Amino acid sequence: VLDVDTATLIAEEFSFTVENRGFDLTDYVPDQESTDEDLEPRPPVVTIMGHVDHGKTSLLDYIRKTKVAAGEAGGITQHIGAYMVEGNNGRVTFLDTPGHEAFTAMRARGADVTDIVILVVAADDGVMPQTTEAISHAREAGVPIIVAINKIDKPNARLDMVLNQLAERGLTPEEWGGDTIVCKVSAHTGAGIDQLIEMLALQSDVLELKANYRRPARGVVIESQLDKGRGPVATVLINDGVLKVGDYVVSGTAFGRVRALNDFAGRRIQSAGPAEPVEVLGLSGVANASEPLYVVEDEKKARTIVNHRQMKEREKQLVRPVRASLQDLFQQIQAGETEQLKIILKADVQGSVEALTAALKEIHHADVELKIIHEGVGGITDSDINLASASNAIVIGFNVRTEASAKAIADQEGVNIKIYNVIYDVLDDVKKGMEGLLEPTIEEKDLGRAEIREVFSTPKAGNIAGCMVLSGSVRRGGLARLYRDNVRIWEGKIGSLRRFKNDAREVQEGYECGIGLDGYNDIKVGDIIETFERIEVAQRIN
Ligand code: GDP
Repeated sequence: VLDVDTATLIAEEFSFTVENRGFDLTDYVPDQESTDEDLEPRPPVVTIMGHVDHGKTSLLDYIRKTKVAAGEAGGITQHIGAYMVEGNNGRVTFLDTPGHEAFTAMRARGADVTDIVILVVAADDGVMPQTTEAISHAREAGVPIIVAINKIDKPNARLDMVLNQLAERGLTPEEWGGDTIVCKVSAHTGAGIDQLIEMLALQSDVLELKANYRRPARGVVIESQLDKGRGPVATVLINDGVLKVGDYVVSGTAFGRVRALNDFAGRRIQSAGPAEPVEVLGLSGVANASEPLYVVEDEKKARTIVNHRQMKEREKQLVRPVRASLQDLFQQIQAGETEQLKIILKADVQGSVEALTAALKEIHHADVELKIIHEGVGGITDSDINLASASNAIVIGFNVRTEASAKAIADQEGVNIKIYNVIYDVLDDVKKGMEGLLEPTIEEKDLGRAEIREVFSTPKAGNIAGCMVLSGSVRRGGLARLYRDNVRIWEGKIGSLRRFKNDAREVQEGYECGIGLDGYNDIKVGDIIETFERIEVAQRIN
């Protein structure tokens, strides 16, 4: 498949013109610009982050119970991913999934819904590793932070210590002459929580958060499930516009006509506006979290979009996304595509983190700025990979390993992980990457395993191994090794491959075949043949 630009260039060489009749989403979902007059203030959307046990859940629970249940008939009967509270200065929407992992996982999938981060720090415990992590994640996303020092009811609360630690991390409190809003709260007694909500509402004025209340809605799915009685139910946070019962909507490959809308407290409503979380009923399938949802004119348009997406999805399974790598960095610099090399650094001990950070900061380049967006002690986690994916960063590990689930996400997202155990090598690779001097490395990929069950002597082809393919497949012409009692005794090529009397190109797991090893005859029953291929990779060592 050629992209439009390439096709146009080639066609021009032969004096033809190309007319792009491709799919363009804006043909179906008009991206109407909102003028200043259309825009009105909207509530802020808030995510709570912080170290484990510092009180994120307690704070969300307290606010939900006291600020929602008191005012709304019946209160929230079931959990729906987000809720709104009414303060004296306006409404505030809270995302009910705390933590920077959820926040960055959504960003990695393209959903930036949070306007303000509340960083919870326990007054008795102070700034801890996940506090620092949350700061990095919020900063990288460019989302302002309001600090809530929690557990001030505890006798061992140490406010000055916490303020000090915050200042050290660039979050200088207003009371110390800085510009970070710090609220002192207790999720147990409720102290300071009204003030926190006021601060959030006020901050939304400062940030000039606005939306158009007259256009068709756009939103983001924050949760989605198949409900036995009600069918697919998606919780959607409206970004802009108003969603109404009867609207045709599309989200990913799910579509449909809105049959009913419920607000966060479970009440039937006819429409939902900007920053409102709403349950949408009537979709054809379960939508994916983080996927945008928008209103389209009619069912035909909805179907066209979905058909196109299903086709694209099939195509996409064949290619994986390409993200930043040291190998490609130089090309990107030359093409003027990148001015920054973003790095996430994880190391075994704080000393290595500091040594590496200091040394990396010494590397300068005329055209590219090196930026460490997050550093920390410990293995490489899902949240590191999500941050890398959201920010197009590479991940450097020093004497640490990558968690299995993180490795899987990295593979899927095309995130580059490099593991080192010598500081010099890290610096050398980064420098070489900047200068375009990294050599590609060769990686081996296992293809299959076969066991020799019988040996046939043929006059022309020598000894042929009658095999059973135990896993994967065996290909004619492919590379192979022969093992006897787990010891490698030969390496070369698969010379011939037959199934029954016929030549075969490839034989799959579970089938018998005859294998002739190229120029090698000393085979025995019980030997194992392993096949593999060598691929040149742009320096990705996982
Ligand atoms: P999370 O891991 O950040 O969600 O923290 P939790 O909300 O689960 O709280 C951890 C522990 O701290 C629980 O035992 C809470 O009861 C307790 N806790 C939370 N907030 C406060 C508070 O304001 N004061 C006191 N004394 N304890 C609190």
